Amino acid sequence: RRASAAITEALQRDIRTRAYVFNVTLQEKAIEDRLRHFSTWVSSRNLANETSDEAVQALVDAVSGRFEICVRYYRVKKRLLNVGELHEWDRYAPLPGASRDLSYEATQELVVGSYNRFSPKVGKLVSQFFEHAWIDAPVVPGKGGGAYCMPVSPRHHPYVMLNFTGKLRDALVMAHELGHGLHDLLAARQNFFDYQPPLTLAETASVFGEALTFDRIMAEEKDPQVRLGLLCQQCEDAFSTVFRQVAFNRFEDACHTARRKEGELSLDQLGEMYQAKLQPMFGDGLILTDEHKGWWSYVGHFLFAPGYVYAYAFGNLLALSVYHRYLEVGPSFVDAYMDFLGSGGSTRPDELVKRVGMDITDPMFWDKGLDILDGMVREVERLSASQ
Ligand SMILES: [Zn+2]
Repeated sequence: RRASAAITEALQRDIRTRAYVFNVTLQEKAIEDRLRHFSTWVSSRNLANETSDEAVQALVDAVSGRFEICVRYYRVKKRLLNVGELHEWDRYAPLPGASRDLSYEATQELVVGSYNRFSPKVGKLVSQFFEHAWIDAPVVPGKGGGAYCMPVSPRHHPYVMLNFTGKLRDALVMAHELGHGLHDLLAARQNFFDYQPPLTLAETASVFGEALTFDRIMAEEKDPQVRLGLLCQQCEDAFSTVFRQVAFNRFEDACHTARRKEGELSLDQLGEMYQAKLQPMFGDGLILTDEHKGWWSYVGHFLFAPGYVYAYAFGNLLALSVYHRYLEVGPSFVDAYMDFLGSGGSTRPDELVKRVGMDITDPMFWDKGLDILDGMVREVERLSASQ
């Protein structure tokens, strides 16, 4: 609560400047789009992302049509935290739950084993990271935080950097980064320029691999407290990528549209629009206070990369929808999926998705990914009922 108030206060100091800069950004974008004959404010971004206005609209419609998944989660969180009404500073407050300690060897077995179950060929590729020491995992003084996978070039293998702390959660991070590594290894058949996937496909293999490991943990973990703790973290991560970024996109859409029709937008207007677009994802589960009105101004993407934010939701949900397809189809899906990853950045996302038997412009495609999130919240509701 105190940290939130401090951020609000810091943002207020020069928020008028940022509102001015934002207005200029909006107007500049309007002029560019007019001169270059783009039909909507987001069309140039969609072109850069190698996707279509239709596919992005289908994504936005599908996600905003199912905000109730997120609302239901926060209703449960409100009950579990037991602090009365929830507000913006409670969004990511840790829930009382348990985790499990895991050795590095056990984590490796869990993650590589999950990939192995999917396909021994994939398991073998992923094992290489351990055999050749392409992973740097220990936490040491001076090392940067977080985790990432570093592709180099089609002729040189990628590297993975982790900060392994021995918690169950580290297994998901390891699976995520190895997914990127797998993607890079398979795409090595491409030339240098087509090696890296576009942003909209960049998280496919990582989210997919994370889902494989997550499902294995959930299938084997017996302690309901550990299951609930891990599920809640997974939900909050997914919601901040899927629902939150689409809500951000709705805010951007409202701002660009209003700026073009009505002229300069006042600070009050921006604050009202931000609340109006962000509140629906929380429904009655969590109430945004007036302090939240200025928080649009810390999202750098609105200023330096208009239209960018939906790509996070696009990539994450695309991966979940593809994973859903695997659950439906089973082992015969493996070859098509490996070919999907091996295409790197050489082929448009809609074309690649077609090859695994799906259509990206169909809202039902996105619904498959949302069904997975819906299932996770149902499990949270079930597990928390006994608390
Ligand atoms: Zn990633």
